[in-house]
Amino acid sequence: MAANEQKKRILTGIRPTGALHLGHYVGALHNWVDLQNQYECYFLIADYQALGDHFHDIDLIRDSVLQVTLDWLAVGLDPENSSFAVQSYVPEFAELTMLLSFITPLGMLERNPTLKGELDALEVERRTVGFFNYPMSQVADILIPRAHLVPVGDDQSPHVEMTREVARKFNRMFGEVFPEAETLIGKVPRLSGTDGQGKMSKSKGNVIMLGDDEKTVTKKVRGMFTDPNRIRADIPGKVEGNPLFQYHDAFNPDTAQIEDLKTRYREGNIGDVEVKMALAEAINNFLDPIREKRHYYEQNMNLVEDALMAGVARTRVIAAETMKMVRDAMRISSYTKNWK
Ligand code: ATP
Ligand code: MG
Repeated sequence: MAANEQKKRILTGIRPTGALHLGHYVGALHNWVDLQNQYECYFLIADYQALGDHFHDIDLIRDSVLQVTLDWLAVGLDPENSSFAVQSYVPEFAELTMLLSFITPLGMLERNPTLKGELDALEVERRTVGFFNYPMSQVADILIPRAHLVPVGDDQSPHVEMTREVARKFNRMFGEVFPEAETLIGKVPRLSGTDGQGKMSKSKGNVIMLGDDEKTVTKKVRGMFTDPNRIRADIPGKVEGNPLFQYHDAFNPDTAQIEDLKTRYREGNIGDVEVKMALAEAINNFLDPIREKRHYYEQNMNLVEDALMAGVARTRVIAAETMKMVRDAMRISSYTKNWK
């Protein structure tokens, strides 16, 4: 048996609705980079899923596919070792979504807290059947490579839980095909936005992008939301729940400096500007090597496309294998002798 066959598999992904930001990194990408040699990894660009609330902006989806791939290469994902894929390039993702929807009770989607929150936030005319069904397609994404582990931010854990339930039901009804995937949450399960209003999210525009230049980062950090009660530097401030310190904990490797800043902040012995300047420097140091790699790949877009297409080819192999197992187990579409 080849070494690769003994490895457990990871499937995880991102929607191509913009380039990537710091939240993606600490919530998900750092785990992907750490685990890429231990697991056989499939990293999916979920363009169908992006249609859910971006069907009116297909240009953005088109532009973002290669931008996301660029970001993946920039943070150090290795396309030789792992498979990058695009959902619409591997038709089996859609086929399995459809088949599994017949054994999935409506209540599983109706009860899903992430979906519920997102639907409530969506204008009525954008609430489509496709959007409602996106966790189902995520279930199929995870099951196509028969993944064992799904490293994601904590907003995604209800979808992985649903994956386990659907897999169990399928296995019970038709025989053992799917493993039960575990969730792995990143070191910062939910990074706040720069506006302090919920999580950093592409659709909210409260983001620091992995590709932002030094000046942009400094400007965004200067404008960050902090403790709103602290109108003067001598008023004791709140560290807990303050996005400035959440970011320091996530991106500043100098823990002694963080402790000093926190102590003086609590005592009302420091201006916000000092905390912000130290943070801007830490984030810029963190982003420097990523920017450098990103720049290299921007100049070599052929490598970016090659990385993606090599991964698509590998994903197609395992997808075809899984769908054969699924159709055989379900005894579906093999009604004639010559069917392949
Ligand atoms: P959108 O707002 O359009 O949904 P997004 O920024 O939430 O975009 P996704 O593609 O939905 O991006 O998420 C990709 C991955 O990144 C998921 O695993 C998600 O949990 C994680 N992630 C996204 N934002 C954050 C965040 N602020 N903190 C931690 N993890 C995050
Ligand atoms: Mg999201």
